[in-house]
Parts: sequence; structure tokens; C-alpha cells
Amino acid sequence: MVSFTTICTRLRSIANLKSMRPLLLAALLPLTAAAGGCKDASPRTASVADPQPGAVFATVGEAGDAAAEAIAFTMGTYVQIKAEAASQEQAERALQAALRELDRLSAIVDRFRPDSQVSLINSHAGDQSWVEVSPDIISMLQTARQVAEKSGGAFDPTIAPLVDLWGFVEAAGESGPESDGGQEAASHEGVGKVGPTHIRGHKPPAAASIAQLLPLVSYKDVEIDEAGGRVRLHRPGQALDLGGIAKGYGVHQVARILRQHGVIRALVDLGGNIYALGTKADGSPWRVGIQDPRDPGGIIAVVPVTDAALSTSGDYERYFEYDGVRYSHLLDPHTGWPARDVLSVTVITPDGALGDALSTAAFVLGRDRGLALLESLPDVEGIVVLPDFSVRITSGLAGKVEVVGRGRLDSGTTPAGGEEE
Ligand code: ADP
Ligand code: MG
Repeated sequence: MVSFTTICTRLRSIANLKSMRPLLLAALLPLTAAAGGCKDASPRTASVADPQPGAVFATVGEAGDAAAEAIAFTMGTYVQIKAEAASQEQAERALQAALRELDRLSAIVDRFRPDSQVSLINSHAGDQSWVEVSPDIISMLQTARQVAEKSGGAFDPTIAPLVDLWGFVEAAGESGPESDGGQEAASHEGVGKVGPTHIRGHKPPAAASIAQLLPLVSYKDVEIDEAGGRVRLHRPGQALDLGGIAKGYGVHQVARILRQHGVIRALVDLGGNIYALGTKADGSPWRVGIQDPRDPGGIIAVVPVTDAALSTSGDYERYFEYDGVRYSHLLDPHTGWPARDVLSVTVITPDGALGDALSTAAFVLGRDRGLALLESLPDVEGIVVLPDFSVRITSGLAGKVEVVGRGRLDSGTTPAGGEEE
């Protein structure tokens, strides 16, 4: 049992909480049970189950009064931050600053906010005019271009027209098709949507419509004027969607701000993009559970993480089924169709934005080319879950990943404990 103060200033209604990822729901149950706990600013104690299904299952440690926890809705998803500093006040100030940063980012990257910088870039597509943007957008676009190049275009930040055609975004809106359990999906806010969401009554678009839009998807048409801090899209109809990278950038910024505010250890979960700052109180790494792609409450692997981001792209976050086939929100920019080779890809790397984009890229590339890409990059590790629940890992994780539940480590890779350092 660990003592936290809970900051939930912008926690939305209980109804909204129901649509959040089960991972956070588990953590939130004690909060919702304490009716009015969020209005009452007095410190309270939240018990953090260990292990916590589908999530980070380590506590901040014997932190006593120097730890604080925040839960909020931002960037179209829920964020949960637990942080420890020299004092509780310091930890709380750090959390407030982190939440402000996420709100700031959400306002500039959300392509459904007409006044966001991404919307502005999209609305000027093809008209030659440059749009002045913040260094954050430049940085995300640079990382996006780097990952697009390295993945042969499997990651492409101009995927927006296809995402819209497939309706993965429309479905999140108020008038969209039903999602699982009749839960309300989040409104058109943010760069990613609250999931997991099984969209009902959807079918793939006509092949002719896909073929028509496919040529618009081309990362090479994103012009970045680094010195001038300006961006433009080359052709009319093109549009940016930073949903595959912005949350990773967000957790990275949160980690930076927490450190600036004197936080010594923290766990950040921004809609499945995790950052593990420092170590547990006993000096051992955080242990992060990777969700079983077919069981929202289950874990398929456990991995130690310290001072790094962990990002997962899975076919269970947002999808629909048609004629017995699952179509997920992760689209192959070369075909215009959802990628279907693997169930999930998790990337662990110190750079959150890079990890986020790489998890999407590796998912689209599939088991062989995806793992090969991750293997080729320094300071990047990955875990791929295949449809038969076998788990493949990059060589740097050999002996470190514990495969649990129905998962089984693919032959050829080394199980935990099999190769001690
Ligand atoms: P999630 O946001 O569900 O956690 P990802 O980080 O993998 O998962 O991002 C998925 C989002 O990225 C999609 O909702 C869509 O906005 C965008 N996207 C889909 N396919 C691609 C792609 N091939 N390249 C870049 N972005 C993509
Ligand atoms: Mg991603």
C-alpha cells in the first residue's frame, strides 16, 4: 500500500470513465468509489494493486508523503501519472505542469479542432502558403519523416484521408456506430481516441475509393522549413494525422517536465504510451505488463523498463469486423488496407515519439520486416505478438522479457532467466 494524493481536477463524468481503457479503469475504481473525492482536494490514499492487469504493475515505492498521482482526460485519451519528488507539494506541482503541457499539445496537434496548427496546415494543403507552427510540430514531423524513410513508407503522417475513408475516426463521434458494450466513445477530441473500441455495422470502403485516395498519402509531400518554423503540404486534399506519434511525443514531454520539477521516479500512462522514469524505490527497474491483444484484462508479457518509453500498437484498440475479418485502424499506406500480420507491436526506447511512430511502422511492416527494422536501430527494443500468441522479441531483450498467460516465447529467442547478465 502506497500513499498518494490524487489530483483529478479535470476528471470528467463517471460516464466517460466507463469508456476508458480497462487498464486505467482498474486503477480508477477506488477513485470512483470515493464519491466526491475529486472535488475534495484533501489528500487520500489509493491502493495500487500489484500486479495490475494489463498495465504497469509496480507501485511508486515506499514513497510515503512525497508521491502524488494525477488522472485526467487529455489528447483524446486518459492519462495517469504517478510521481515521487522530495516533497508532496513538489510532486503535485510537477503533475500540474505535466497536465498543462499535455493540454497545450492537444490544442496544437488535434486535427479535429479547427484552430489547431495541424488543422491549419491541412486547410492550406496545396495552396502554396506556409503555416507557422510550434517547435513541437516540427519535431514530430521530423521524427515522422525519419520513421517513414526507415520503414519504406509503412509509417506515413499523411494517412488522414484514408483514416477518414475507413471511418475509424467518424466512428468515435457522437453519431458514430455503436462500440462495445454500448459505451460512448470519446467525442472528436484529441489525436487518438479512447479505446479499445469495437465499431459495429462497418464495412470496408469500395476499392475504387481507396484507389482514389491512395496517391494523396505521401510523406514526401510534407515540406518542413526548419529554420523558419513553417510547414506546408504539397497537394490539395492531403492532410496530416499525427495520431501515430503525438502521444509518444506527449509522454516524452511529460517525462522532461517531471524531471525539471525534481521528480525522481514516475510512471506515466498516456493512452497506452508509457514512460517509466527512474527506477522503483529499491533501485530495480519498473516492470511493465504488455496487454494480451485478445483479453483486455490480461497480460501476455512483462518487461523491465527504466528511463524509457514503451509504446504499443495493437489491432484491438479500434477495429471492426466484417465477414469474419478484423479490420483495425492501423493502415498500410501502400495498399490502403489495414495491416493484418500481427496482433500487436510494443517498442521500448528512450525517445517517446520515435517509439510511438516505430510501433505503428513495425505493426504495418509485419513480423519479419517489422522486427528487422527494430533490430536495426540503436537503443530500440521490441516485442511482437503473433496471431497464435507466440511472442517475438529483439535480441536486446533476450533473457529480460517474461512471457506469461497464454503467450509463449517464439523459438529462437531466449526466455527470461535464460541469459543472465
Ligand atoms: P493508438 O493511437 O491506437 O495507441 P498508434 O500509436 O499505432 O495506436 O496510432 C494509430 C493511429 O495512427 C491511427 O489511429 C491513425 O490516426 C494513425 N495511423 C494509422 N495508420 C498509420 C500509418 N500507417 N502511419 C502513420 N499513422 C497511422
Ligand atoms: Mg504509434
